[in-house]
Amino acid sequence: MPAAQARSTHPLPPALFERRFELPDEDATLAFGSRFAQALDAVRHALASNPDNERFTGLQVQLTGDLGAGKTTLVRATLRALGHHGRVRSPTYTLVEPYSLETKAGPLDVYHFDLYRFADPAEWADAGFREYFDRGAVCLVEWPQQAGGLLGVPDLEFALDIEGEGRVLIARAFSETGKTCLERC
Ligand code: ADP
Ligand code: MG
Repeated sequence: MPAAQARSTHPLPPALFERRFELPDEDATLAFGSRFAQALDAVRHALASNPDNERFTGLQVQLTGDLGAGKTTLVRATLRALGHHGRVRSPTYTLVEPYSLETKAGPLDVYHFDLYRFADPAEWADAGFREYFDRGAVCLVEWPQQAGGLLGVPDLEFALDIEGEGRVLIARAFSETGKTCLERC
C-alpha cells in the first residue's frame, strides 16, 4: 500500500445534489457510464447551441472507491459512449491517458487520471497537470485523494462501494453543470 493511500480524503463541501444508484452487475456499471456520457453530451450541446449561454468550461469528475470497485470500468464505458473505439488503458503508471474525441456536441478532450501512484505534490506542476483542468476538457480522476487539495472541488464525485456481488454508486454534484448532468443520468 503506498504511504499516501493513508492520506485522508480531502473534505468536499456539501453537495448541491446527490443520487444513489444500485449497480447489481458489471452491465449496470456500463449502462450508467453510457447514460453519463449521453447526459454530458446533451449538456455540452445545450450550452453550445445557445449563444446567450455560458460556454462549457470543462468538467472534473472524481471517482472514489477501493481497488476493484469499478472506477476504471465506469470510465471505460463513458469513453466508449463518447465515441472512443480503441483500447482504454488504465493509467496506473503514466498517471494520465489523453483522449481526443469527436462527439455529437463537437470535439472533446478527455483526460483519464489514475493517481494511485502519485506521491509528490511537486510533480503536479512539473507534469503540467494543472493545465489539463483549465482547457474545457473532461477530467475523470481515479484516486483523487492522492492529490490532496490540488484538484480543488470537482463538478461531480462518483463514490463506488462494493456491496455483495454488486456495487453501489453515490453520485454527488458540486456545480450547476455537474448537477444538470447528474439529473439526466
Ligand atoms: P477499479 O478501477 O475501481 O480498481 P475496475 O473497474 O478495474 O476497478 O475493476 C472492477 C471489477 O469489478 C471488474 O472486474 C469489473 O468487471 C467488476 N465490476 C464492475 N462493476 C461491477 C458491478 N456493478 N457489479 C459487479 N462487478 C462489477
Ligand atoms: Mg482503476
